[in-house]
Amino acid sequence: MSLFNTIFYKSYHTRLCVTSAHGFHLRPAASFANTAKQFSCNIFVSFKDKKADAKNINALLSLSLDTQDCFMLTARGKKAKEALETLTKQFSRLMQNDQESEPAQKEETLYEGKTITGETIAEGIAIAGLYEYKTKKISTQRNLSLHNALKESLQELDNLHAIYGTTPGGNIYLAQKELLKTLIQENKTIQAFENTVKKISDSLAGTSNEAKISDYQDLLGRIKKHLGLEEKMILPDIPFILIAEDLLPGQIEQLSQSQAQGILLKRTSLRSHTAILLRAAGIPSLVLTGPDGMEPLSFSNPAILDAHTGVFICTPTQNDLQKAAKRLQKNTAKTLQIRAKRFEKSYTAQGKPIHLLANVSDVKSAKEAKEEGAEGIGLLRSEFLFTQAKPSFETQVQAYEEIFALFENVTVRTLDVGGDKALPYLQLPPEHNPFLGIRGIRLFQTHPHILEEQLQAIFTAAKNRPIKIMFPMVAYVQEFIQAKAFAQNVAKTYALDICNIQFGIMLEVPSVLFQLQHFNEVVDFYSIGTNDLSQYLFAIERTHPILKNDSDLSALYEALLKITAEATKPVSICGELASDQKALPKLLAMGIDTLSVSPGYISLIKEEIRHV
Ligand code: PEP
Ligand code: MG
Repeated sequence: MSLFNTIFYKSYHTRLCVTSAHGFHLRPAASFANTAKQFSCNIFVSFKDKKADAKNINALLSLSLDTQDCFMLTARGKKAKEALETLTKQFSRLMQNDQESEPAQKEETLYEGKTITGETIAEGIAIAGLYEYKTKKISTQRNLSLHNALKESLQELDNLHAIYGTTPGGNIYLAQKELLKTLIQENKTIQAFENTVKKISDSLAGTSNEAKISDYQDLLGRIKKHLGLEEKMILPDIPFILIAEDLLPGQIEQLSQSQAQGILLKRTSLRSHTAILLRAAGIPSLVLTGPDGMEPLSFSNPAILDAHTGVFICTPTQNDLQKAAKRLQKNTAKTLQIRAKRFEKSYTAQGKPIHLLANVSDVKSAKEAKEEGAEGIGLLRSEFLFTQAKPSFETQVQAYEEIFALFENVTVRTLDVGGDKALPYLQLPPEHNPFLGIRGIRLFQTHPHILEEQLQAIFTAAKNRPIKIMFPMVAYVQEFIQAKAFAQNVAKTYALDICNIQFGIMLEVPSVLFQLQHFNEVVDFYSIGTNDLSQYLFAIERTHPILKNDSDLSALYEALLKITAEATKPVSICGELASDQKALPKLLAMGIDTLSVSPGYISLIKEEIRHV
């Protein structure tokens, strides 16, 4: 505490009580410490005989404030009164909002086989062989300094927060990041870090705050991974139910990408971060409560994990297996229930309407989109009308007419051939890097006739409908201007009225990000193609069999933020990211209000939106 603050300023105090049933744990504490940091005055929390700096999340957690505990919050220094008022309000909000969904009420148990009971962590049914938790130490030569390993760990937590957004899962990663930042300041070597974690673990062991240990161990594991000392789970590549003592929150990432059908934990708190992340990942899970006496584990025979009734059956009877399979079907029926609401508009929890359009490729998929509840077509991948043989002008007109008759809002993308999409009858010169070659709008230079006929067919079918035309692979403003002029010329040549037609671009080449001011002056709209934008942003071919460009999406999110901040024309997203449930909160928070997804995703994404 600075001497200046002690001498010249008055202290302000208030007494606050922890009302959340979960205590003052990592997530609210991270948020509280962050707010405290915005003030320059000294702020501290006194509880029993301990005192903690309110700006230090680790110090706050060390108080182990549990439900019903009351503490004194004191501020002294510049704007101390304001700090106290702000923090008091925030604390009360944090306590009220700390209502992470309670596990569902148990249903009746109906199985014949010997059951072992458990508490439900995440609902659902799993039928698969039982597999016991195993890990393997993987040492890789990373030669990374502790400083860089910490940096990478922070970056990783940032990315996970970006992916999960403002969901309970996302908040865990944000809070862990804050905790790690504090620990970095206090521990300058990996040994010091390890000692701190050990000390904290020892002091919390056996207390009601034991669950906190896993966050510290998780952070240690993450840093060690970046130092090349990873302890990784070994998982089967066929469906399985995992049984483990407990898991660290960070291990759920690996499990959600595996064949895990269900998880049995011998000890974890239902409100631990591991449990929250299991719920976020939707993996049926139980924490076993007894009786003990698990029969010998069998991976070859199916066991049942029923997280609706809270039981595990190691050796189920045929009847049991049938019952469980039926229940699984019921779950599927729930999915159908969501589907039943597919024609209803989707509004966020705050009441903001979000438009759900479809990505289609022909008349058949456009009809499917209608049937699935799409409000329009955000991307007609017109090249698929051309795949087998070049369609005649009349065939093209007919296809467009049928699609335009289904929806009022249709965006047609002009031929996007090249890269991974070749047409057998369209001669393209051999290229070393086809993804960087003649693709999309570049066909205007090499194959103007096929585009002339396509535009004529679209304009003819549109009549006076307000259709949108979108050019793919645009890298330069001039390209767009020339393509639009080309289209206007086609309309003039064939005396077709295009005054209701808008022209926009697929935003999928990174150069556009740096010319948005110029594009704003000429385009009518943008549709972000995150598939290609990722490909070109990360320089990883989208069809590459080994390399994946989705491990760290923070640069992509930065790009999207830049677009939404600088675009003055309507922006929608038609790349795969629009159907990624984890990305949804983030995209909506950026102000995106129109998404275009494959027809099969429409009902699901609409339902998700209702909960964001
Ligand atoms: C994209 O690039 O994100 C996109 C939607 O277009 P396509 O996948 O057809 O290239
Ligand atoms: Mg694309």
